[in-house]
Amino acid sequence: MNIKNFPLSKAQLDGLAERYPTPFYLYDEKALRENARRIIKAFSVFPSYKEHFAVKALPNPVILKILAAEGFGADCSSLAELLLSDMAGIKGEDIIFTANETPAREYAEARKLGAIINLDDFTHIEYLERILEPGLPDLISCRYNPGPLKAGNAIIGKPEEAKYGFTRRQLIEGFRLLKRKGVKRFGLHTMVASNELSLDYHLETGRLLFDLAVEIKNKTGIALEFVNLGGGLGIPYRPEQEAVSWEALAGGLRKLYDEILTPAGLAGLAIHTEYGRPVTGPYGWLVARAIHKKEIYRNYIGLDASMADLMRPALYGAYHHITIPGKENAPAAETYDVVGSLCENNDKFAVQRKLPKIAVAAENPADPQSGDFVVIHDAGAHGRAMGFNYNGKLRCGELLLRPDGSVLQIRRAETIDDYFATLEPGALKELS
Ligand SMILES: *Cc1c(COP(=O)(O)O)cnc(C)c1O
Repeated sequence: MNIKNFPLSKAQLDGLAERYPTPFYLYDEKALRENARRIIKAFSVFPSYKEHFAVKALPNPVILKILAAEGFGADCSSLAELLLSDMAGIKGEDIIFTANETPAREYAEARKLGAIINLDDFTHIEYLERILEPGLPDLISCRYNPGPLKAGNAIIGKPEEAKYGFTRRQLIEGFRLLKRKGVKRFGLHTMVASNELSLDYHLETGRLLFDLAVEIKNKTGIALEFVNLGGGLGIPYRPEQEAVSWEALAGGLRKLYDEILTPAGLAGLAIHTEYGRPVTGPYGWLVARAIHKKEIYRNYIGLDASMADLMRPALYGAYHHITIPGKENAPAAETYDVVGSLCENNDKFAVQRKLPKIAVAAENPADPQSGDFVVIHDAGAHGRAMGFNYNGKLRCGELLLRPDGSVLQIRRAETIDDYFATLEPGALKELS
């Protein structure tokens, strides 16, 4: 059982919504910092540890700067993510650039910033050598795809069917080739799961990589500098689920490290991770307002947010917990589908969910603020970031709740002008 908190009262939300109309994302800085410190502390059992926060989970430079102040680096896979990290003051090898099907100019930017380049394929070694000025960097990491050695899960699929990484044989050959080409420092990376809550699964990934690090040393003479375990650690979206304990995870990995790496002479090896979801997921909420109610074959509550703001439920059938501020203790007497305004029937935040009776703004047109707030939990990762503009929907803004209780807007809501900004005004005239 985990408790689904929201850091503001109904009265505080009323005040906030006067300044920033719903919908909006709210992130809790204090909780983000406390969680980051817990992660760093748990992993301090290793001689060296770096968490490269997966920028795609919450690509806002203010969030990156907060995490950087706690000691995190960044995991990027695009030009924009590299630039966001740079803006947040994350520099050099604190950035890992995990490429896959990456355009040359993005590799060049990563090289320019001094980021660790993590290769996705054997053929990229010579490609990189050709396109990079001035040639290959001293440090290169390679991504491993264990194929049938590892079971996957629903979001990322089976490693065997996943497009990422080198096979085991290619990896050994790849490290040999990189060494011949003068590369001096090496890292090993994998990312095999997504939203996986089993501690054992993640420990098994550690064992797999540690065994492989020993095999690489034996076959190529290369002592890796780090092993990067990737992301994929789940969060308990449902109240009845349990979070993976950071201490149990780091402690379990440390045991495997001592068992496998230390006897092989790899005791100085650093551990890197690329957690995204468990870093920010539980500390962000999508706050919307209930505007319409509809009673047909089912009872519907319509929100002023849509799947354009949060697409996980539509994309994965994902569960997101919902609470109604001010009605925390009211009985869950009604069953609703909680929906957005997109012309897509999967635009549903919740299906047949038991909730307290919800008041909607349309019941009281004289007071559009009379609709209940609907808070969608665990939206701090892969939430706003996955937003889109289909159906002409404008993505909402992002607010940061500071430790002193003040609120800082860290991204404004999109406007109609943003939506039209990429149109060519001249093209309409061409047709007349
Ligand atoms: C998405 C991704 C992550 C982060 O995954 P989470 O599930 O958010 O922790 C880390 N590394 C790579 C390469 C990724 O693609």
